[in-house]
Amino acid sequence: MKKWLNYLPTIFILSIVLSLVFYSSQGSTVQMNYTQFEKIVDEVDFKKSSMTISSTVIQLEGTYEQNSKTVGYKVIVPRTEKNIEKLEKDLQRNGGKLTVEDPNQGSVWISILSQIIPFLIIAVFFYFMFSKMGGGGNNKAFEFAKSKARVESNVKVRFKDVAGCEEEKEEVKEIIDYLRSPKKFTDMGAHIPKGILMVGPPGTGKTLLAKAVAGEANVPFFSISGSDFVEMFVGTGASRVRDMFKTAQKSAPCIIFIDEIDAVGRQRGAGMGGGNDEREQTLNQLLVEMDGMTDNAGIVVIAATNRPDVLDPALLRSGRFDRRVTVSLPDIKGREAILQVHARNKKLASDVSLANLAKRTPGFSGADLANVLNEGAILAVRKNESKVTMTDLDEAIDRVMMGPAKKSKA
Ligand code: ADP
Repeated sequence: MKKWLNYLPTIFILSIVLSLVFYSSQGSTVQMNYTQFEKIVDEVDFKKSSMTISSTVIQLEGTYEQNSKTVGYKVIVPRTEKNIEKLEKDLQRNGGKLTVEDPNQGSVWISILSQIIPFLIIAVFFYFMFSKMGGGGNNKAFEFAKSKARVESNVKVRFKDVAGCEEEKEEVKEIIDYLRSPKKFTDMGAHIPKGILMVGPPGTGKTLLAKAVAGEANVPFFSISGSDFVEMFVGTGASRVRDMFKTAQKSAPCIIFIDEIDAVGRQRGAGMGGGNDEREQTLNQLLVEMDGMTDNAGIVVIAATNRPDVLDPALLRSGRFDRRVTVSLPDIKGREAILQVHARNKKLASDVSLANLAKRTPGFSGADLANVLNEGAILAVRKNESKVTMTDLDEAIDRVMMGPAKKSKA
C-alpha cells in the first residue's frame, strides 16, 4: 500500500500529460472560422455533426466529405434564428446526421468537480507531507506531549536474578502481594505505599530490582528517565507526566519506574538562574498525580536516584515516596552471589573460584561484577581458549578497575 502511494504523484502528472497529448492530437480536425465555413458550407456533404446552441453562439463539431476524403471540423457561428434554421437544413442535406446538444447538460457535474478537485489536490499534498514526516521519524514536533515511557508487559526478570540484596527484596515483597491482589489489602483498610524510592550508588541493581518486582507480580513495567520529562520544548514536562499516568491507569495494576528522579525532583527554589520553572512544574504535576492516585488505583511508582540529598522534601513526605529502600554496594557474600548469577551462561574453567574473585573485588557494584565476567569471556575468545580461565578473570578485574594493561611499558 505504502509503496503504491509513493508512485501516486508520478501517475498524477503522467495522466495530465497524456490527456493533454490526447486532446491536442484528436484526428485531423480543422478549426475554422466563420468565413471559411461559409465558403464550404454549400459545397460539401456533411456526415455527422453536433450543434451546441448557447446564448450567443452556436458551436458546431463533426465531419464532412470533400473530394471523397473525410475531414473533421470545428467552428463557432453567431447565434441568430436565421443561422439556426439554415444550419439545420445544410447539415442534414444528403443524409447528414445532426444532433443538437443542450449546453447545460453535464455542466452541473463539471462545476461540482471543478470545486472539489482543488481541495482533493491540497488534501493529497498534505497527506504526503505528513506521511513522509512520519516515515522519516521526524515528527517529534507533533508528539511532544506524549510521554516517552517504554512499556514492558512481559518482564522476564525474577527475584532469583537479583543476587545479594535480601533485605531489599524483603522490603518490596509486600508490593508484589499488593499488585497481585490489590483487593485483599484495600478490604483490610491497609494503605500500600504509592511510591518507593530506591537509593544507592549506580550499578547496584535498582532498575533490576524494580523490574524483578514487576516480573514476580506479572504486571506491566513502565520505565522512564527523569530527564525524559524535560526535553526539547518548554512546558512539556507536566503534560508528559499527566500522559504517563493516564496510560498507566489503563493497564493497572502496573509499576511506573522513574530513573534518575533527581533530574526533576530537585529542591524547588534551589539553584540559580532560569530553567528552573520547567522542572518545578514537572515536579508539581508529579506530586499532583501521586496525590490523585487513590489507594486502589493499582499503580506503584518506583523511583531511583543516587542523590537523595538533593530531592525536594515534598516528594518524600508520606503518601508520596514514603518508603525508602537503600540498595548498597554488595558485600563479599553478595558479590559471590552476583557472580554466580552472571556465570550461569558462561563456560568457566574448573580452576575458577568465584569466592576468590569476590574476595578480590571490594567496592565493585553489581554492574561492575557483570562486566568482569563479560570482559573475561571476551579475553578468552581473543586468546582462542575453550573456557574462561582464572587468568582471564584476573586480567578482567584489572581492566574494569584501571583499563587495559600496558604491557609494552618498561
Ligand atoms: P542501577 O539502576 O542501580 O544503576 P542496574 O539495575 O541498571 O543499576 O544494574 C545494571 C546491571 O548490573 C544489571 O543489568 C545487572 O546485570 C547487574 N547487577 C546489578 N546488581 C545486581 C544484582 N544484585 N544481581 C545481579 N545482577 C546485578
